[in-house]
Amino acid sequence: MIDPRRALPSVHWLLEQEEMVPLVRDLGREVVVAAARTVLNQIRDGGASSSGADHQAVACLVVAELRGERPHLRPVINATGILLHTGLGRAPLGPWVWESILSLGKGYSNLEFDLESGERSERGAAVAELLREITGAEAAAIVNNNAGATLLTLRALAAGREVIVSRGQLVEIGGSYRLPDVFLASGAKLVEVGTTNKTRLKDYERAIGPATAALLRVHTSNYQVVGFTEEVSIAEMAELAAALGVLCIDDIGSGALTPDLPPGLRGEPSIQASFQGGAKLVLASGDKLLGGPQCGLILGEARLISTIKADPMMRALRVDKLTLCALEAVLRLVRSPSLARSRIMLWRLLGTERAELRARARSILEQLGARLGLSATVVETEAQIGGGSVPSQRLPSVGIQLECAGGGPLGSEAGLAKALRTGPVPVVPRVHDGHVWLDLKAVFEYEDKEIVHALDRLFPIPGDWSDLRED
Ligand SMILES: *Cc1c(COP(=O)(O)O)cnc(C)c1O
Repeated sequence: MIDPRRALPSVHWLLEQEEMVPLVRDLGREVVVAAARTVLNQIRDGGASSSGADHQAVACLVVAELRGERPHLRPVINATGILLHTGLGRAPLGPWVWESILSLGKGYSNLEFDLESGERSERGAAVAELLREITGAEAAAIVNNNAGATLLTLRALAAGREVIVSRGQLVEIGGSYRLPDVFLASGAKLVEVGTTNKTRLKDYERAIGPATAALLRVHTSNYQVVGFTEEVSIAEMAELAAALGVLCIDDIGSGALTPDLPPGLRGEPSIQASFQGGAKLVLASGDKLLGGPQCGLILGEARLISTIKADPMMRALRVDKLTLCALEAVLRLVRSPSLARSRIMLWRLLGTERAELRARARSILEQLGARLGLSATVVETEAQIGGGSVPSQRLPSVGIQLECAGGGPLGSEAGLAKALRTGPVPVVPRVHDGHVWLDLKAVFEYEDKEIVHALDRLFPIPGDWSDLRED
């Protein structure tokens, strides 16, 4: 009788298996080779649950060996149809911006060093210059996120004084950000005016007194007040503020630069429009519609920005070199509109047409062919921007609708969705109305083949029983 241990798979064969590809990518070849050797040695010593004759089972042992090694934070495929999905990291940076980060991050950089003079320089000054050029702001400060921008601005300019906000604009963004709590932390006093559905200029006017530091407008980015409503425009607020000698601050949230950047959005406030309306300071997120890294932008009058930068909290909220590098790369792309549309990943995703998505969905299904237990169709869907931006705008998209049939773990929506999420390359689908959808609006073209792999892994080809995998 032949000892089955002599028929062990080779390390080379193991590394070529499909389930190893993402592991090699995430962990590096050496780590996977080491795990493969460990498992093969365990089998030779008789200390493994496999005899080694079933090569596929050995590959599974290697995967199990590496499971503890996998970084917790890893890439996923966003098939939810929500472009700025906070749970999935908001704006994807894409390969072009990523390349800048890669070359800067691997070594030293001139983060706070002037190469001409050899002197120390100010962090972020060059990025602030780009922001000035693009938005027309006099000056800019860059912090960790928009929550930080709001906190720092209120603290530096209004601690111990009053800031007036409409009751219709006391926003909560994703649970941990509630405007009244940010006020408490800043030391500025929140003065609410108007009602949930109606706030008039007179309401602000009556509330302004000697203790007033500013009027703050907050964009209701993740909800809409509809029906019997009234709001005061930023231009009216700015005019009143100027007349009575207080500041007008606009938290626009999502960070559209101008009304047509990114292209194709409707009704979203923009940094440019805010300044045109007369706001003295504009606050925005870097990882929403701008499509950049997580950061907060504070833009406006130079003297106000200087006061903000002088606050000790600035040091606590400032951004690191990788963030600045990514932001600079995005802003450089913004300056050439044709590049921006294709290379700022979020803008590229926003611009993909339904016809293109439909062709990709069909191609995915063609590559799969008939599968046992899988019934999939190409359907038209409506994707969303998400991330607390433009709640009402739906984006035409296409998805693959998967029907759950039969028993077993893949027979329910929850079971199928979990199987997709926990595969070698996690695919996060949308589960709605008894269906599981893979919406392609936020899927990069190069990820289509991973979707094919994920479905291929779960659903065998009819008649090909040898391919039935145990997982
Ligand atoms: C998103 C948002 C915030 C919070 O921004 P983060 O960058 O997530 O901290 C604050 N205000 C408004 C209006 C927003 O839309």
